[in-house]
Amino acid sequence: MTFDGCEGRNAERIIGVSDVDGPRPEVRMSANRVPMLSFIGGARTVTGSKTLIDTSDARVLVDCGLFQGRKELRQANWKPFPVPIESIDAVVLTHAHVDHCGYLPRLWRLGFRGPVYCTQGTRDLAAIVLPDSGHLQEEEAEFANRMGFSKHDPAEALYTEEEATNSLELFETVPFDELRSVIAGVDVTWRRAGHILGAASLHARLTETDTDVVFSGDLGRPAHPILLPPDDIGPTDVIVVESTYGDEEHLTIDPEDEMARVVNDAAACGGVVVIPAFAVDRTEVVLWHLNELVERGEVPDVPVFVDSPMASRALDRYRSEVRRRSPEIRPELFGRELFSSINLTETRTTAESKALNDRRGPMVIISASGMATGGRVVHHLARHIGDSRNTVMLVGFQAPGTRGDRLRSGATTLKMLGHYFPVRADVCSIELSTHADQSELLDWIATADHPNRVYVNHGEPDASDALVQAISSRFDVITVSPDAGERVRLDRLSSHAHRPGHR
Ligand SMILES: [Zn+2]
Repeated sequence: MTFDGCEGRNAERIIGVSDVDGPRPEVRMSANRVPMLSFIGGARTVTGSKTLIDTSDARVLVDCGLFQGRKELRQANWKPFPVPIESIDAVVLTHAHVDHCGYLPRLWRLGFRGPVYCTQGTRDLAAIVLPDSGHLQEEEAEFANRMGFSKHDPAEALYTEEEATNSLELFETVPFDELRSVIAGVDVTWRRAGHILGAASLHARLTETDTDVVFSGDLGRPAHPILLPPDDIGPTDVIVVESTYGDEEHLTIDPEDEMARVVNDAAACGGVVVIPAFAVDRTEVVLWHLNELVERGEVPDVPVFVDSPMASRALDRYRSEVRRRSPEIRPELFGRELFSSINLTETRTTAESKALNDRRGPMVIISASGMATGGRVVHHLARHIGDSRNTVMLVGFQAPGTRGDRLRSGATTLKMLGHYFPVRADVCSIELSTHADQSELLDWIATADHPNRVYVNHGEPDASDALVQAISSRFDVITVSPDAGERVRLDRLSSHAHRPGHR
């Protein structure tokens, strides 16, 4: 069955991630020039988030994410962009994770010079993560050339560090809760999403048709210790909601209990706790919990090292947002200095990082990358994983096949830096997700007045389908998970509006 305002699956498509080759397609407005939404990335997958809004005379790209992970996804970054770059009037960003903004430097390389609107926090974190992403792209190309991997000769970077830095010139920041006309006919307001610093849900109003569309971006958890919880939705016609954890409920166990046990054990036997953590946001949350435990006297004040220049720069941003009393920070933190109760050292130089090798425990080392796929944490694991007094604490999602995943699955040896190391250290996992789970996503949707369409994106197919099911059974609203490349109309919604209610 189809319904007004949304063609059925595959009924109308533009080229997306599932289409590999062929000439560059073009999204055009329909003859009657109705506003449309096109799901060109982050549809049926958790990366590459990109959704296009087309009105009769404007085109706005919502998020500009990089495809990551599996090879076929990464290759999608190299496909021709589904619409002419020069036809995009503006980009609006929900937040600074690479799967939401990491394609921007590529857009810059392809000639985009329009404005990129986002919050101050997103701009600050993008200034950290985008050049780093460019650096990684260059390293990958250089590695492919050295190993003779590439079909292209020589292998090219998707974009360079310099292009990533240049693309930051396009950014224009917008305060939370302030309506901004990003182009004639499209007004956008950034509302708190509680996921990472600067993260927002976007409330877009298409003035021509009086249609309201809310894009969740990545939604955080109400329990984030530093950021305020996601704002309520309020009145809207359409919701586009992420589904990263659309089929899961997070554990309800208090992570501080396990953290206290691990730190106390390390303190008692001179052990080292190595915590692989994403540089942006996760390091802050780990430090927060350690700080709480020390303040309450539940663990001794062991030395804590953050060994990641990127994490240190992100920490600076969080500290400065607390000092300037940003409207996304929990007000109870105003006037407090973050992490002031722990014995914290941030190692900014390579020499300082290497000097950690000569230190004995007890100590805690927090370092990137979060899944131990690379970065300084690999050196710390290589040094400490063979000692049974030590612990590796995993604090986030570990993608299949990564070192973090192998450790969590009980590997007895781990290959690092060309050698196999015996895993004698204790390995434990705690739940510190900054993503809403299924119940939290549903609770957020329950804050909407009168939506008549919910589109579920940004999730693996099982997660998206589970969330579609859950929304459909709890609310009386048409809910679908669009395919990559699918387009839906945004007109004639109000005549079909009905109040969402509990079934
Ligand atoms: Zn995110």
